[in-house]
Amino acid sequence: MTNFSRRLLTWYDDHGRHHLPWQQRPTPYRVWLSEVMLQQTQVATVLPYYQRFMGRFPEVGDLAGADEDEVLALWSGLGYYSRARNLHRAARLIRDEHGGRFPVTFDAVLALPGIGRSTAGAILAIAAGQHHPILDGNVKRVLSRYHAVEGWPGRREVEQQLWALAAEHTPQQRTADYTQAIMDLGATLCTRSKPGCERCPMSRDCAALGQGRVAEFPGKKPRKALPVKQVVMPLVLNGRGEVWLQKRPPTGIWGGLWSLPECDDEAAFARWRDEHLGANDRGLALEPIKHTFSHYHLLIHPQRIQLQQQGNRVADGGAMVWQPLAQLEQLGLPAPVRRLLESLARTLEQ
Ligand code: SF4
Repeated sequence: MTNFSRRLLTWYDDHGRHHLPWQQRPTPYRVWLSEVMLQQTQVATVLPYYQRFMGRFPEVGDLAGADEDEVLALWSGLGYYSRARNLHRAARLIRDEHGGRFPVTFDAVLALPGIGRSTAGAILAIAAGQHHPILDGNVKRVLSRYHAVEGWPGRREVEQQLWALAAEHTPQQRTADYTQAIMDLGATLCTRSKPGCERCPMSRDCAALGQGRVAEFPGKKPRKALPVKQVVMPLVLNGRGEVWLQKRPPTGIWGGLWSLPECDDEAAFARWRDEHLGANDRGLALEPIKHTFSHYHLLIHPQRIQLQQQGNRVADGGAMVWQPLAQLEQLGLPAPVRRLLESLARTLEQ
């Protein structure tokens, strides 16, 4: 038994949770149901669902014999409904292929729908005292902090490293208590935010705490590099200090706002200029502006064009205005376009 497991078990005896309903008479069926319900869900939320489920389906055969509609209705509100459908399918498999008895070998449990390596380990450790490590979200958090394991646990190498540590710490004796204990530590002390390190039995040699980097573990999922979309925006000013604005279509980004005209690229900009402006109205490229949406970056290349004449009132079905630069606050403008125009207005005032 490692030092870690010894201390964890001592802590569990005094401070762990011992009165949860699935801890009373922990059969594989009862533990399985609790483990599946607890995935992505807190104990307090699960409790009434667990009680109702157990009241209606006290044994796996009761669940197997139920209509899927009824199972889903009892699950209603817990979310992630594939969990309920998998429970139901698994119960039927247990009835049809295992004679109605929950299997107690690791491979047979792992083969059931909706049961991964960690859940299979937890069921057999808690309900049958077998020696299997577990690695659910709580355990990943505890171990990655205690050992300062760098990297996002969703990455294969990081996950393998955590499984190896989980196996190293899982004791041969009291495996059921240890399994419950490490889940409890993660759920009650080594929590995602504001962990209670000062009360934690691991604080004297927890690597993340020692390095003052608790919040950095487990490593975050790397953000995907967002694609970059580029557009050219003609920024046309007339002799009266007005800017050419155009109303955007009602749907899509900045739907219904007033903005600068938009061209997909330089060639489209050249065509736009030929169509709308005189031969001498050349553009001056301004500093590009970057704006980030949830799914992409927009790189705006403004082309400033100062018209020599006043500028025609272009008839464009009401979708175009010459707006005085000094009166931009009257219109709904996209934030980066407003910033660009306001900074231009300031330069012109000087
Ligand atoms: S000392 Fe803090 S960070 Fe380390 S295992 Fe305990 S609660 Fe988690």
